[in-house]
Amino acid sequence: LRTGRLIVVSNRVALPRQTATGGLASAMRAALQEAGGVWFGWSGKIAAETAATVHHLYDGPVHYATIDLSRGDHDHFYDGFANRTLWPLLHYRPDLVDYNRGHLDGYLRVNGIFADRLAAVVEPDDVIWVNDYHLIPLASMLRERGVRNRIGFFLHTPLPAAGLLIALPRHRELLETLASYDLVGLHTARDLRALEEYFVHETGARLRGGHRLRLGHRRFRAGVFPIGIDTQHVADAAAQAGTLDPIEDLRSSLEGRALIIGVDRLDYSKGLPQRFDAYARLLERAPRLHRRVSFLQIAPPSRSTVPEYRQIRRDLERKAGHINGMYAAPDWVPIRYVNKSFPHSVLSGYYRNAKVGLVTPMRDGMNLVAKEYVASQNPDDPGVLVLSRFAGAAQELGEALLVNPADTEEVADALELALAMPLEERRQRWRAMMDVLEQQDITAWRRSFVAALRE
Ligand code: UDP
Repeated sequence: LRTGRLIVVSNRVALPRQTATGGLASAMRAALQEAGGVWFGWSGKIAAETAATVHHLYDGPVHYATIDLSRGDHDHFYDGFANRTLWPLLHYRPDLVDYNRGHLDGYLRVNGIFADRLAAVVEPDDVIWVNDYHLIPLASMLRERGVRNRIGFFLHTPLPAAGLLIALPRHRELLETLASYDLVGLHTARDLRALEEYFVHETGARLRGGHRLRLGHRRFRAGVFPIGIDTQHVADAAAQAGTLDPIEDLRSSLEGRALIIGVDRLDYSKGLPQRFDAYARLLERAPRLHRRVSFLQIAPPSRSTVPEYRQIRRDLERKAGHINGMYAAPDWVPIRYVNKSFPHSVLSGYYRNAKVGLVTPMRDGMNLVAKEYVASQNPDDPGVLVLSRFAGAAQELGEALLVNPADTEEVADALELALAMPLEERRQRWRAMMDVLEQQDITAWRRSFVAALRE
């Protein structure tokens, strides 16, 4: 192996030919396929012992190095601290934070094992890029093991304000370890302000120009790097998807009705109950739309061992059933609610056939679906994006119809506006958004982060 490689570390590794149903996995796959390098992380498998061996797989320019987790480590590290403690905290839901010391200990233990295995494969010129909230302390643990390479961290979730972060027991112990990175990347200026505010007010770090921070003897830099998609690839896939069976099936089933589409992991951060309510409100307010629209919500289940995820699934089944019971006709179903995941090629064809992309998370680090929806549109007759102000994507996609997802009337208004929007306005808004997506695509994102890290 030559030196100067890019080593990407993330909890989950999307192996070749596996469907990647998360934003991070889709993005990292695209980044590594273009640049080449090593992808290190959990195999997604449970074994008797954590990391008994490192599995290696080579596919084109990408070397996948993965480890298994024991049941206990998985339950504490992933289900426990990452998904029940950090995820709700980072998505502004302190009410859902489930903290216990066993989870935190498991989280630190697994990070230590990641550090052991990774330290053994790092070469002097490698640049290490650690991703997401599962692995916050990894750099400090690598440093303890003598790794002196450049190490960057990217947080794919929002970072809430300091006043909320301090709700986490032992928050300093965890968050101060960010200072062991050379560069910390975030999606938006709001997240960056939160990071600086936290370090200055809670740790006594010194903030200098250029978002550089100094904590004790550690210096690091923070910056905004909004993640993009493989815009050209998505646009091409969408243009070609028309002949695929699932796309033809969907189109013929619509019988000329306007399609509204939502695509989200089944997660409480995605604002799905509120979205269903807004659609119901639309049908209540605008009887003329009955039989003229159809709302397709694709929502693959995720993290189903966590109670809140099972609860939201039940809530949505009830709401979808209620809305259909209330408004359906023998030849019209208002909501098509599908708990399945689809490959990107099919999704982009679905997006292209939808007059409205409805993306209304309560909080979201970025939200790649919003970007994929825009990139998939037919330039001659593009659809309209209705987007939550609280998705990171709203910072770049100002030409979407921006809404507060908690405001049922506002979302229903936006849907009405979107369904009636004249072609010329749709074209203008789409072009402005597409320009951003073309300039700040996944390649630009990876290059700017890695360049800043090497700097
Ligand atoms: N996705 C997919 N199939 C599905 C649902 C989602 O491939 O059935 C992909 C979607 O295209 C996007 C990613 O999963 O690339 C979701 O990323 P996003 O940032 O929107 O949300 P996250 O799941 O990371 O919170």
